[in-house]
Amino acid sequence: MSNRTPGLVCAHHHLYSTLARGMPAPPSAPTDFISTLQQVWWRLDAQLDAEMLYWSAALGAAEALMSGTTAIIDHHESPNFIEGSLDVIAKACADIGVRVNTCFGATDRWTDDGKLVDSVKPHSSMTNAAKRALAECDRYLTDGGRGMVGLHAAFTCSNETLEAATELAKKHTVGVHIHVAEGLDDAGAGERLEPIASDDWLLVHCVLLDRQLKGRIVHNPRSNMNNSVGYSAPTRRTNTTLLGTDGIGSDMLEEFRLAYARLREFDIKENPATVWAWLENGYHYFPEAREDVVVWSYDAVDDPWKLVFTTGVHPVDVIVDGKTVINNGMPTTFDIHEVRRKASEQAKRLHERL
Ligand SMILES: [Zn+2]
Repeated sequence: MSNRTPGLVCAHHHLYSTLARGMPAPPSAPTDFISTLQQVWWRLDAQLDAEMLYWSAALGAAEALMSGTTAIIDHHESPNFIEGSLDVIAKACADIGVRVNTCFGATDRWTDDGKLVDSVKPHSSMTNAAKRALAECDRYLTDGGRGMVGLHAAFTCSNETLEAATELAKKHTVGVHIHVAEGLDDAGAGERLEPIASDDWLLVHCVLLDRQLKGRIVHNPRSNMNNSVGYSAPTRRTNTTLLGTDGIGSDMLEEFRLAYARLREFDIKENPATVWAWLENGYHYFPEAREDVVVWSYDAVDDPWKLVFTTGVHPVDVIVDGKTVINNGMPTTFDIHEVRRKASEQAKRLHERL
């Protein structure tokens, strides 16, 4: 019996989305996957500037650390603040003390004359926005940033953009981090990605994926339920599975419990060790997080059968790189009230623009 685990890893996050909570209701209520993107996420990300992004990422990182999550794989988009955006996220995470791997998700959904389209023809040309997004990934990685090459999703990218991202990822020997077949609009992603995907790609969601693709899959059960896109049933595939939140916080014990409940709904023969293994697969990207220590409020966190049925377990202490960053539930290196206050100011600015 132990009350300790290593630091937990969130394998798919959107730190830019932390300030979305409390945003004004969209002009029309989303009725499906594409309208959720149009009415919520593509309106929100277009309004982000450097200051909003910094405090969005800082609050997301602070909440991660206070949940025992010491490492985050982030996927970023801010179409009107591209150059330097990955540095802002990296700085916010460094200031809080969370490890991050980030990327800018390139997309052709913003045309060169500034119009937003909801799908992109495969044979169209790469847009300036996609070129700038890939250039930001290239710059950040060249400067020594920890990250991957990002793509939004196949259905908002031309083949030219998919191929350019593939080449850029090879140049930096990192994978591509991409949403795959999350909803109906992207159900054809498999056919387009099959010739280019490789084992180091991070394939997010794969709910409607119609074939085997090379890469690791990130499962985001709460987000998939929230978006009503269906169950991705990761156990039916042979890919390595990781666990993410898709931006809905980074409380990985909570995501573990939820992932287990959804898995058991699908297959009564399953057990919580399957889901715990998904969490541990995140250490591929952050091997050093295995040395981080989280002391929990519960003395059997090493028993998945007990942990999965015990709610309300929280970190008492968190030690990153040998340094105690959470002591008795409270951060030692930043003032959480200050972070919340600054984030709330930026949320107000952001919401006024929507
Ligand atoms: Zn996502």
